[in-house]
Amino acid sequence: MNRLPVHNPATGELITELPADDEASVQARYTAARASQPAWAATPLAERKACIERFRGAVVRETNSLAATMTRETGKPIRMSRNELTGLLPRIDFFLGMVEPVIAPEQVFDEAGTREVIQHEPLGVVANISAWNYPWFVGCNVILPALLTGNSVLYKPSEYAAMTGLEITRLLHEAGVPKDVVACLVGAGPVGSALLAQPVDGVFFTGSHATGRRIAQAVQGRFIKLQLELGGKDPSYVCDDVDVRAAAESLADGAMYNTGQSCCSVERIYVHDKVHDEFVQAFVDTVNGYRLGDPMADDTYIGAITRAPQLEVLQSQVDDAVVKGARLLTGGHRKPGPGNWFEATVLADVDHRMELMREESFGPVIGIQKVSGDEEAVRLMNDTRYGLTAGVYTRDETRAKRLLSQLRAGSVYWNCCDRVSPRLPWSGVGDSGVGLTLSSYGIQTFTRPKAWHLRSA
Ligand code: NAD
Repeated sequence: MNRLPVHNPATGELITELPADDEASVQARYTAARASQPAWAATPLAERKACIERFRGAVVRETNSLAATMTRETGKPIRMSRNELTGLLPRIDFFLGMVEPVIAPEQVFDEAGTREVIQHEPLGVVANISAWNYPWFVGCNVILPALLTGNSVLYKPSEYAAMTGLEITRLLHEAGVPKDVVACLVGAGPVGSALLAQPVDGVFFTGSHATGRRIAQAVQGRFIKLQLELGGKDPSYVCDDVDVRAAAESLADGAMYNTGQSCCSVERIYVHDKVHDEFVQAFVDTVNGYRLGDPMADDTYIGAITRAPQLEVLQSQVDDAVVKGARLLTGGHRKPGPGNWFEATVLADVDHRMELMREESFGPVIGIQKVSGDEEAVRLMNDTRYGLTAGVYTRDETRAKRLLSQLRAGSVYWNCCDRVSPRLPWSGVGDSGVGLTLSSYGIQTFTRPKAWHLRSA
């Protein structure tokens, strides 16, 4: 039996060694998931919904211990772990409320005695390979609508959030979802590869662009649904008419929340030259007020860096920017261990020659660039291969709408950032991915529309 060591990124300590999957166990879980899926699909929707309602109840009851587990294995500040769990509840409620209208058979025509009906069938057995940064959100965005629509789910959480992955499946099983209908596969990349070798009907992936490419290559030539939710380099533009302090506080939170380890973290800020200096001062003041430290402490805002290799990425982006002329305003260095720590870092006078403004940082590091006006801001914001989110801060609604309509991104924001809604589709353009989760489309995506032509004899 393989074992997966789990370390606490805040202390470096070994928390546990989990029994892990291998090729044979992945194949056995696939066979069981395939065999169990028709009965699950035939289970009345009301019963499937009742399971997810019981799961919701357990998340509420166990929030504190689930949050503690997530914080121990990822280094996420504890209040943000609790926020993730309470933030999950409206998503569950949305799925429960929307699944019936979304998958109800639709009568489209009654043409010369032939009834034409669309039925939304489950895809079958789906694979969910997932990231660690919001393990409850990214796991449940796939698992819950997939189960509600009658699929079996083989769920491979990140090796950096495997204890949380096991908690998610434990609560689903306790809530009545049959063991073979949803299974947690424990392990790193090779376990994901072994899962992709099985003849699943859909692959739903959340993670980095580099792994997303590998996954697309692994399923190449197989005509199955593939969704990739990847990274971003999300920009925001501060116009010359804003409440500078309010914009700075909002964007500092957007850049540093979850220690900057969010796919939709603000990663680049462009500021109109008329308010640039005032904005930079207010931004740095806000960031300097964030407490870095023990993720289990309630007043910690900046936690640990979950994956140790990311420390090198952050340091090299900062060093590259400084060498090319950026001004380091605060932070700029990794902190001595034990554990993985990087200071909250703000750089000004940055530009697009710097890696910091081109590639995902995924940490508490941000560059601020001065711009002369709207045209330059839009050009720079769109100067990226990614396209997850983008935002604009201005008091002028007409200006905001004009600017947002020019931005190439899956989600656009006016006077806000780093926001996800269960009611709206979550998707990226360009190298930020294909497909979507959330919204009614994010339920329908786990189904195949089947056309019925019905004529009575
Ligand atoms: P990652 O790509 O390193 O890993 C993601 C998952 O893929 C893990 O479960 C990993 O074990 C698995 N994996 C690795 N190699 C594999 C292979 N060859 N075959 C199959 N599976 C394999 O990403 P990560 O570090 O876990 O997550 C961080 C990234 O995820 C960031 O880029 C972030 O922006 C992105 N992300 C995107 C969204 C979104 O909604 N767009 C949400 C959260 C995170």
